[in-house]
Amino acid sequence: MHTPPPWVDEVVAALRAAHPTLWAGRGDGRVARTPVALPLAAIEQARLRLQRFAPLLAQLFPELRATQGRIESPLLEAPRLQQRLGLPEAAGALLVKADHALPVAGSIKARGAFHEVLEFVESRALAHGLLGADGDCRALAAPAARAQLAHDEVAVGSTGNLGLAVGVMASALGLRAVVHMSADAKDWKKERLRRRGVEVVEHRGDYAEAVAAGRRDALANPRAHFVDDERSASLFAGYAAAAAHLAQQLRELGRAVDAAHPLFVYLPCGVGGAPGGIATGLHAIFGANVHCFFAEPVQSPCFMLQMLVDSAQLAGLGEHPSIYDLGLNNRTEADGLAVPRASPLASSTVAPFLAGVYTVDDDTLLRHLVDAAQCEGLRIEPSAAAGFDGPRRVLESAVGRDYLTRQCAHAGVGAATHVVWTTGGLFVPDEEYKRFVARGESLMRQDR
Ligand SMILES: *Cc1c(COP(=O)(O)O)cnc(C)c1O
Repeated sequence: MHTPPPWVDEVVAALRAAHPTLWAGRGDGRVARTPVALPLAAIEQARLRLQRFAPLLAQLFPELRATQGRIESPLLEAPRLQQRLGLPEAAGALLVKADHALPVAGSIKARGAFHEVLEFVESRALAHGLLGADGDCRALAAPAARAQLAHDEVAVGSTGNLGLAVGVMASALGLRAVVHMSADAKDWKKERLRRRGVEVVEHRGDYAEAVAAGRRDALANPRAHFVDDERSASLFAGYAAAAAHLAQQLRELGRAVDAAHPLFVYLPCGVGGAPGGIATGLHAIFGANVHCFFAEPVQSPCFMLQMLVDSAQLAGLGEHPSIYDLGLNNRTEADGLAVPRASPLASSTVAPFLAGVYTVDDDTLLRHLVDAAQCEGLRIEPSAAAGFDGPRRVLESAVGRDYLTRQCAHAGVGAATHVVWTTGGLFVPDEEYKRFVARGESLMRQDR
């Protein structure tokens, strides 16, 4: 075991005090080039499955006709936002990967959730003999096929966006869909699901209890499949499939990624499944030349906590601690990131190559939500703003600079590409969005 970096005590103190901080990984100065824990074949299979089902999705969702059923988001240049964030041109170029506008689900959850629901429906369709010899998935839109699938069930426990994505897709495919929600889940999310024919079960306890109840119910029904946010390889592979498309978009923009042109990616993180899957996919393509940083609320830094424990930089809390063990409260406007414990699948997979994790306070999220709207016309939810503080934190902090010296010594930073991943927002009701904007604007007036 190597000695912990000199800055680690400061990071742990800030973590406990709920102050914004940055933890950097790849501690031994080298990045394992070993194959990632998720087999590359599984990522490619997920990509192909999403492609195979696109014609069916185009038939089921009018909003997908224009893209022939493909669910993808643009990679946007963001020069005004780059200036607003105080990122000089000499620091490289800022791009936004706009998953906040992913159709049908309105969040990054679409990638993993749709893949898992499609994988399940494909296995059931094969078992029922519903897919013909040509394998054309559009056969599943026929009334007789839907009548068969109506006996199969998909269940999930969620505070919001995962439930929305799983529920909407499962019910559109004709499956029985059950979403277990905690008491604190937003009413508009429950209503949106019920309007789509999804059964919403409300639980008085917190997120963990809703998940446990959902798992229990699904186990009792042999025709039910439970989408497990913390353990599902199918969900993870669906997220990872995003990497190939990002690589293509970077090529189209003429942005090289190699040792002289590093790629930095800033990903909002809850349990770590979505950012973990994407980071895994990107690492498989770009190796040590991609640097993925995860972003968490100061009150919910479960992934940073897990990384500190896994690298033996924080002891005495057990192997799989929760942020409550640190005295933090998990309260934040970033409800997509308000998670007390990291996914063991995600944390063990990315630990060997993750560049770092940083925390952000809610006021910063709300300011950046307004910046994104004013500069680039992006409508995002607070969770989706967590990436915007990334470039500054990595380029300007002592921990970040130390990381750059260790990992990017041969790169001209000016040749870097910084991709901020915006992860949700499309379906936030106007009233609620306006309240976020008003709070952000009021903070910005006080800054002046
Ligand atoms: C769920 C979610 C994330 C993070 O995904 P995890 O898999 O929980 O890490 C980020 N942003 C938004 C808007 C989300 O809903």
